Amino acid sequence: MNIILLGPPGAGKGTQARKLVEDRNMVQLSTGDMLRAARTSGTEMGKRVAEVMDRGDLVTDDIVIGLIREQLESDKAPGGYIFDGFPRTLAQADALGRLLDEMGESIDRVIEMQVDDDALVARITARSTCANCGEVYNDITKPIPSDGKCSKCGASDFQRRADDNEESLRTRLLAYYKQTSPLIGYYYAKGNLVSVDGLGSMEDVAASIAKALD
Ligand code: AMP
Repeated sequence: MNIILLGPPGAGKGTQARKLVEDRNMVQLSTGDMLRAARTSGTEMGKRVAEVMDRGDLVTDDIVIGLIREQLESDKAPGGYIFDGFPRTLAQADALGRLLDEMGESIDRVIEMQVDDDALVARITARSTCANCGEVYNDITKPIPSDGKCSKCGASDFQRRADDNEESLRTRLLAYYKQTSPLIGYYYAKGNLVSVDGLGSMEDVAASIAKALD
């Protein structure tokens, strides 16, 4: 089963994708993670995208479609793919449809994660991640353990994303409403959209997603 997790920044797509990887042996394809890896690798492309990402704007369709194409070719997923943060534009959605078609595959479900805007701002400005395993923490709802070690892998290095500040978040939200939210109608019309409430606890949201998939 191949699925898309669709939702604004801070909706919890990455957290739920990691849970699906653990529970269902699926492969997570996050264009945000791919782009962050590209920028730390110091390549020309990495340098070009760093500035765009920090501002909160979208990277060009050609770049992200190219990244997804490479991953689909190299990373086979018997349990299916979770597209996390991709597609973000109608052109990307069309390209994904064509790429999957060439592989004899398709999108089975699009999970729209709904979270209101005030909650997104609060979540994102309090967010940090383990630099080693990517486990997500939140200053208010899930603080870093008092011994300073990640509860998942034991590492003690935590980081905040350069674009997790109020100013770039406003730009990211605007990009979501202008460029990505039309995908809700696009996938509704295709008949595979399911909307879930993304505001509950991590477990509650995971249960709603599981219900939508089974
Ligand atoms: P994310 O980790 O999904 O929140 O993505 C972080 C940033 O990477 C976004 O704000 C964009 O600048 C860029 N990005 C990630 N995925 C895409 C995409 N599918 N299309 C364009 N830009 C993207």
